[in-house]
Amino acid sequence: MDFTPKKRLSLDQYLNGIKNGDKIILSQAITLAESALASDRKMADELIVHLLSGTGNSMRIGITGIPGVGKSTFIETLGKHITSEGFKLAVLAVDPTSTKTKGSILGDKTRMESLANNPDAFIRPSPTKESLGGVSINTRETVLLCEAAGYNVIFIETVGVGQSEVMVKEMVDFFLLLMLAGAGDELQGIKKGIMEMADAVLITKADGDNIKRTQQAQSQFQSALHLFAPSSAGWIPKVLTCSSLNDEGLTEIWELIGEFQQTMKKTGYFEENRKLQKVNWLHHEIKSRLESNFYNHPLTSKNLAAIEKKVISGEISANQAAQKLLSAINHEK
Ligand code: GDP
Repeated sequence: MDFTPKKRLSLDQYLNGIKNGDKIILSQAITLAESALASDRKMADELIVHLLSGTGNSMRIGITGIPGVGKSTFIETLGKHITSEGFKLAVLAVDPTSTKTKGSILGDKTRMESLANNPDAFIRPSPTKESLGGVSINTRETVLLCEAAGYNVIFIETVGVGQSEVMVKEMVDFFLLLMLAGAGDELQGIKKGIMEMADAVLITKADGDNIKRTQQAQSQFQSALHLFAPSSAGWIPKVLTCSSLNDEGLTEIWELIGEFQQTMKKTGYFEENRKLQKVNWLHHEIKSRLESNFYNHPLTSKNLAAIEKKVISGEISANQAAQKLLSAINHEK
């Protein structure tokens, strides 16, 4: 337990700071939204309500790939381009491993140093929450807070191991998968499902001796992707190559993202997808609140262990047990 006093501001201080694009206050507001304390949650909820009308105006981009594929180098180099074009970029990380190991693959402070010093970029390392569900909820709130602070391009970075990709896909407009040439799919831990979610695949490190391999991989991936049904309302995923070190291929991927955005806005899919994501978020919230209400209820704590024993011994079925526990709470008034 951490008993150190938390630094908290007033609602107005958060609101003004965020509206003025103050990075320190934005960070503090995100910390508030990540907190499990009831008082913090209440304040964070209020804050979001006040800021809601100023959100939604960004391009939200998910970036995934195994550690070492070149995500941070790519984000740094692309980030430089984007910010020099006048965009404000926020980079958020969803790192499922941090919850288990207490270490973090993505949250390393030394990553993306030049971007961290860029006045038009904001980097937020992974939250360290107990549950993946928690992480996903907080990341959605973090996106809104960054948008309210004026960031109009949001990168949500995750390691391509499968658990967090689905959640990230549900929060973004465009999903980019980074792959290495020459490493088998298995080796990269990339499941078919992740390939299917991608709006584009980017083969990294297309430089030096690796150029030929990346070109081969490009045509292999392109034919593999043709076997999948088109993702995101008729969009056929593209496969590109890049060298972040030599700054090659990055303009092309940024243009592709722009093309995607334009096409999807024209077909109306962009808005449709955002609406669907909001409704999914609502249901996610309902489920997680119901679950925590149930498990935190005194009657559940009192009865659960005994009922589990009865289920184990076969005295009652799991269905009956669930029914009993739930109706105990529902009838208690
Ligand atoms: P991450 O773990 O996915 O964030 O990967 P990093 O960006 O940290 O890159 C992993 C390693 O690959 C580092 O040693 C980088 O210098 C190297 N790397 C990244 N991008 C490139 C590239 O475009 N070309 C080459 N040759 N190496 C790269």
